[in-house]
Amino acid sequence: MAYDKSIAAFKEAYQVIPGGVDSPVRAFSGVEGTPPFIEKGEGGYLFDIDGNRYIDFVQSWGPLIFGHCDEDIENSVIKAVKKGLSFGAPTTVETALAEEIVKLFESIDKVRFVSSGTEAVMSAIRLARGITKRDNILKFAGCYHGHSDSLLVQAGSGLATFGTPSSPGVPEDLTKHTLLATYNDLASVEACFEDAKGEIACIIIEPIAGNMGLVPADETFLKGLRTLCDAHGTLLIFDEVMSGFRASLKGAQGISEVKPDMVTLGKVIGAGMPVGAFGASAKMMAHLSPEGPVYQAGTLSGNPVAMTAGLTSLKKLTSNPSLYVEFAQKAKKLVDGFQKAAAAVDVPMVTEVRGSMFGFFFSDKPVKNFDDACQNDTEMFAKFHKGMLDRGIYLACSSYETGFICTKTTDEMIDEAIKAAYETMAEIYK
Ligand SMILES: *Cc1c(COP(=O)(O)O)cnc(C)c1O
Repeated sequence: MAYDKSIAAFKEAYQVIPGGVDSPVRAFSGVEGTPPFIEKGEGGYLFDIDGNRYIDFVQSWGPLIFGHCDEDIENSVIKAVKKGLSFGAPTTVETALAEEIVKLFESIDKVRFVSSGTEAVMSAIRLARGITKRDNILKFAGCYHGHSDSLLVQAGSGLATFGTPSSPGVPEDLTKHTLLATYNDLASVEACFEDAKGEIACIIIEPIAGNMGLVPADETFLKGLRTLCDAHGTLLIFDEVMSGFRASLKGAQGISEVKPDMVTLGKVIGAGMPVGAFGASAKMMAHLSPEGPVYQAGTLSGNPVAMTAGLTSLKKLTSNPSLYVEFAQKAKKLVDGFQKAAAAVDVPMVTEVRGSMFGFFFSDKPVKNFDDACQNDTEMFAKFHKGMLDRGIYLACSSYETGFICTKTTDEMIDEAIKAAYETMAEIYK
């Protein structure tokens, strides 16, 4: 494939945009080549400015569960656009979208809309701190919750479980309140509770982690978190910005019995427009301004065009719940195919599927946490990614990301991707 125009576009972008991109993962730093610049999408396909066509398994990193340019979503958005882009005043479409979400999520009575997943999580944590009147929060290594200050942490040195900043510009005064535990390891969480003498406002977790590859939490682990939270007056926040409407219609909460106190949503609820949301019981949400004292606001929050895209998308999803069975069948067929293609040249691979989400690691042992995920052969992934891209298969450009199936992903597309995987593995080992 020729990438000449994309290479030139990347150089030009580099002059005026840091790294040439507006979100770091897009820069292809972890893989070979330069990122294709996208001209347009069409159903399950992406087209770049060189005219190359790709089967899209990234789907804007999750939001596009109906693929590109879905007719219903497009038409509803065009109608909304014609009425005006933003008012900064209440509209009925916000209530309608809130009602859809409240209907689906048992743990949500009320929901507040924001403009990104980052904002949703940041606001939910402020609310949890405001309600509990505690500063400490607990997160898990390998889980991503957006780029707000207190969540950009890495493990501290030595035995300390309190985090240190993972980015310059984040004050240690903030991250010292963020405790870091190991995913799927309840003992590490218990140790944090001991260190912090129980003074933890909330645990935030991706109940189905999608930002260290796809790594679901064990049910017993989630139950253990629930018990610990109840015992210590700590709130449990499920960050379902990715898994919401992706793993199942109700995200992880459609799969697990464990109910969180708060939920954060994003990605699919905006169908490609910038939207985030956080919700909880009416009692907890009453602490939020203007009902309560915890401040939170946004000029473009609940934007009518974005709300309309989300509402159309959610209505389509709820009217066809069998979609998730089809998604999972296709995703399973895809990763099974990848695994066999790798096995054909004696390369080990472990795979995971949850609804429309899929993940694969070049590893020979199960991946339960971030340390396991880091054992993945990233060099092999980089070669695999490049080979697939050259064959028109657009996969996430990092081995720590999740892949997605959408309603426009056909069986023929899956077959084509598997064929490309065999060719790629054979090429790497020729
Ligand atoms: C994508 C993501 C976020 C951040 O959402 P943005 O819209 O990128 O700010 C937060 N949490 C999880 C689990 C995510 O996958």
